[in-house]
Formats: sequence, structure tokens, C-alpha cells
Amino acid sequence: MKTRKSKKLYKKALAVMPGGVNSPVRAFRAVGGNPLFIAKAKGSKIYDVDGNEYIDYVLSWGPLILGHAYPAVVKALKKAVEKGTSYGAPTSLEIELATLVKKAFPSIEKIRMVNSGTEATMSAIRVARGFTKRNKVVKFEGCYHGHVDGLLVSAGSGGATFGIPDSLGVPQSYISETIILPFNDTEAFKNTLKQHWKEIACVIVEPVVGNMGCILPKEEFLKTLREETEKYGIVLIFDEVMTGFRVAFGGAQQYYRVKPDLTCLGKVIGGGLPVGAYGGRKEIMSLVAPEGGVYQAGTLSGNPLAVTAGIETLKVLSKTSTYKKLEKTMQSLERGLKDAAKQAGVKVKFYRAGTMFCTYFTEKEVIDAQTAKTSDTEAFKKFFWGMLKRRVYIAPSQFEAGFISLAHTEKDIEKTVKAAYETFKEL
Ligand code: PMP
Repeated sequence: MKTRKSKKLYKKALAVMPGGVNSPVRAFRAVGGNPLFIAKAKGSKIYDVDGNEYIDYVLSWGPLILGHAYPAVVKALKKAVEKGTSYGAPTSLEIELATLVKKAFPSIEKIRMVNSGTEATMSAIRVARGFTKRNKVVKFEGCYHGHVDGLLVSAGSGGATFGIPDSLGVPQSYISETIILPFNDTEAFKNTLKQHWKEIACVIVEPVVGNMGCILPKEEFLKTLREETEKYGIVLIFDEVMTGFRVAFGGAQQYYRVKPDLTCLGKVIGGGLPVGAYGGRKEIMSLVAPEGGVYQAGTLSGNPLAVTAGIETLKVLSKTSTYKKLEKTMQSLERGLKDAAKQAGVKVKFYRAGTMFCTYFTEKEVIDAQTAKTSDTEAFKKFFWGMLKRRVYIAPSQFEAGFISLAHTEKDIEKTVKAAYETFKEL
């Protein structure tokens, strides 16, 4: 595989950007090697600067559920850009996107658009604190909610990859407002709330954890979170930045039938442009400025280009045929990968929720951060490079979810499964 141009660019990038990248996991540190520099992408394929074509299961870490450069999105964006790129004033587009999101998420009565998932979680926590007049936040080990100071503790994603539970630059006093519990541990949760509820403003959770691979909640876990938070007047926040429109049209809350007080969204609702959002119960969201006293703002929030891409994406997702096709493709991939591992004699655990998934190199059921860590990351590394060599691009870390898009074809799946079988055989 020729990667001469990528290598050259990486050298240049290292001189001008920390680690040569603008977001850590992209640097391929977890798998050891040079990151690919991307020239373009279309449908299910991504192309590097050396001209290699790959079937893409990263999809910009989730947003591109329709595939790259989806024609209706591109067409609408071209039209929108002619009208100016930002006004910093209200547009009817914002109402349209808000209405589309509300239709999919009945728990969202009012919504505020922001520019990233990080902003969404940070702001949701602020309004939860304003609403309850309490300070502490409960989060779960291995869940990642963006690089918010108080949440960069026992986080997944880049944190899990690099084994850094905390970040430099985060004051201990911030972390002291965060309580960390194991995911899926109902008893630990109940006991903690019983003891500390008076100080707890909110509980934030990835209802399906995509930042430790893909970990499913036990049925009673999410229900317990709902019942207990309601009992103690604590705000329940579902961080559906990754799961929103992925696990189901209405996110994990639709799939598991649990209604949070607030929901954070990102990725898919921006159709590949920088967007985030948070929303939920009217009486909580009404506290957000200028309606209420919780300050939160953004120069580019509700940006017309980003909102346009989101609208076009959600329009396609609003058709039931879209999810039927996605489900069919995902089932083929699931079946194929499981069979390939079995035939090659490699013990793996495969999990998926809607169109997000992960293959762990372990025999243990993965239910939380500790069991996720039983995965053989050396085997994963070999798997990653074996797949890349065969022109399949998966996330360069064991602790990230994979995604498929509407553009992935049965032929793509066949090629991927063949590549997986051959790679498994090499392990
Ligand atoms: N929450 C979750 C669940 C995420 O997966 C991510 C990003 N991977 C974020 C929040 C942060 O989003 P962003 O990178 O857009 O700030």
C-alpha cells in the first residue's frame, strides 16, 4: 500500500499542530503508525492523498449516516452557500431543524443549537445545575461526553485509548464535583443516590456507550436511572450525541423506552457539519438565556450551512425505508463478521445497537469499562492494519464504535467480511 504522500504530510503537520492533528485519536497513536491524510470521500468510500480507496466505517466518527457527499445534502448546501455563510441572526431554517428533531424525540420540548457535542453536554449540565441549584454530576466510567473539564475523568474515547483518566489542566476542584460510577451497575447507582442526592444536580450517561467500543445497557439499568433520578429530583441527561438517529430514529431513548429530562445531540443532526444541540423539558429549557438566567450563547450557533445539512439529513432519515435498508445492511455485516471470526477460530465478542457496533478481542461479555479492557489491544492493532491493507478503514482504536451508512452496499459488506476473514486468519 502506497502512503508516501500521507507520510510526507504527517511530517509537515507535526511541525505546526500538536501531534499533527486537530483531534487526538486521528493520529493513529493507539495502533502505532502514520495517519492517512484524506483527499476526498463519496458514498461509502474514502480516498487518501496517495489515491487509495477504502470502505469507510469511521464516517467522520458517526455523523455521515447517509454516506459521504450525499447528493441532496450537497445540492442544498451549494444553494445555501450562495445566500451567505452566517448571519448571527434568526432564520426559518433553525425552526425547521428544531421541528424535525422534536418529531423524532418527543422528550425534547425545547431545543438550543450549539456547535459541537462538547458544547451540548457542557450546556446541559449548566442548565441542570441552574434548575436544581445543586452542583454535583454523576457520570459513568468510560463514558465520554466531550472535553468538558469536569467530565474528563474516567472518560472513554481518546482517554481510554491513551490510558489517561484525567487531563492536565483540569483543576482538582472541578473533578471533585463529579461522581464516577461503573456503567450497568444498578446497585452502586442506587446506593450513591441514596447517600448523596441532596448534592446531585444531574446524571449524564451515554445510553449505549460508543466511547468504549459499543456497550449495551442492561434493560433494568436505564430504567433504574430514570426511576431513581425522578425520585430525588435529579435531572437525567441522555448524551445521545452518538446514539441519536443511530440506535433508532428517536435514539436510544426510543429503543429502550426511557424518557430523559434532557438530551444532548450532535453528529448526525449536523449531516457532517459542526452542530450540537441540547433540549428537553420545557420548564428546564426555559431557564436558558434570554428566557431565563442560565447563560449560554454562540456566534455561529444555528449556522445556516450546518442547519441546512442537518435538515436534509433528517428528511431522509424521516422515511421508514431508510432505517429498513440500514438494518438490512447492518445485519449482513453482523452475520458476516461473526461467521468470519468463527471460521478463522478467533474468539471475539460483537455488539451493536442500530448501526453502531464494535468487535472486541475477548471471550468475556463486555458490560462496562473494566470488561472492555479485557480486549486484546495487540490483536486489535493487527486487525486494524490487516483491514487497512485490504482497503477497509475502521477506527484506529479498540475503544471506538464503528458505523455504517445508507451508502454501504451488499458488495461493500462482502468485501469487508472477506477482508476480516483473511485478517482474522493472520492473528
Ligand atoms: N458525547 C458523545 C457521546 C460523543 O461521542 C462525543 C464525541 N465523540 C461528544 C459528546 C463530543 O462531541 P464533539 O466531539 O462534537 O465535541
